[in-house]
Amino acid sequence: MSRVYNFSAGPAVLPEEVLEKAAANMLDYNGCGMSVMEMSHRSPEFQSILDEAEADLRDLMGIPDDYEVLFLQGGDSLLFSTVFMNLATNGKADYVVTGNWSKKAFEQAQILGDAKLLASSADKNFSYVPDVSSLDVREDASFVYICQNETITGTRYPELPDTKGHVLVSDQSSMFLSEPVDVARYGLIHAGVQKNVGPAGVQIVIVRKDLIPDDLPGVPTMLRFRTHADAGSLYDTPNCWGIYVCGLVFKWIKGLGGLEAMAQRNRAKAQLLYDYLDASELFSSNVAPRDRSIMNVPFATGDKDLDAEFVAEAKGARLINLKGHRLVGGMRASIFNAMPPEGVEALVGFMERFERSHRA
Ligand SMILES: *Cc1c(COP(=O)(O)O)cnc(C)c1O
Repeated sequence: MSRVYNFSAGPAVLPEEVLEKAAANMLDYNGCGMSVMEMSHRSPEFQSILDEAEADLRDLMGIPDDYEVLFLQGGDSLLFSTVFMNLATNGKADYVVTGNWSKKAFEQAQILGDAKLLASSADKNFSYVPDVSSLDVREDASFVYICQNETITGTRYPELPDTKGHVLVSDQSSMFLSEPVDVARYGLIHAGVQKNVGPAGVQIVIVRKDLIPDDLPGVPTMLRFRTHADAGSLYDTPNCWGIYVCGLVFKWIKGLGGLEAMAQRNRAKAQLLYDYLDASELFSSNVAPRDRSIMNVPFATGDKDLDAEFVAEAKGARLINLKGHRLVGGMRASIFNAMPPEGVEALVGFMERFERSHRA
């Protein structure tokens, strides 16, 4: 067996220890004679997997008791709609668009009701985060929506917006558990776990309990957060296996020292790559330095053919999935929690050699 360094933006690299643990328990989970995949979601074994996952997540993020934690399905993209359906009780919400994912959320809100665009960085291909210190938030807006780390263009909010007292909703998919966040500053956080936390097919929603409406006329049962909150994420069959692996990842992060330790490790990895990019004469990052993501790092040579050559040669060196998103081109290195520092060192070393051999 030989593992590659996988820079995929999602589904993405998972910690080797977690995969080993899952493999060791594949046929017989904790002596119960079956895999987690084969278990009833109503069994005491699965209930304790779910309870432990939630408890560890609460512990890691310091989630206050007045917040609900939901493990959902349907894709993080479904939450672009369900967040609006559940939280925009008067049909009005305000959006900041800093990239493809917040743009998609805004588009869904426009389908469903009255969505206002507060600010956008579309003018410069989403290469920065606009000034969000004095947004013109509508008095009666139900919430202000952001995507805090844009996975495709590689931006991250250096500071949270001033919502003028309004509820803040944040899509944290590609930064979830990468650094400490103060949950109390948000009304709702949502994340698809396939970026930084687990296998595809689970979305985690952390939502202040008083924001979950009891009654939502016209909204199907499955799309109401109330349904899943009341049923402890077991209204219907959840993604049992996915939740199990997320739970293993939560324990892995705790073992490394929690979110502060994770953040230090992630910042050091990102710094190594950005320092090289800023010094390089061949490669560059076009993201405004103060708004750079520490998870997703797009870069390019400025020459399409050379970019393609780089991606192909990197693959030969077992540095995988470095092709940039089709909307952006160039390259992108996603350096999520589970990417070891050695993987980033290997990438930078490879880029240095590539630069030397292509500059002359
Ligand atoms: C990947 C991603 C999504 C969409 O996730 P799906 O589960 O594929 O629908 C939404 N937001 C962000 C920030 C993402 O990175």
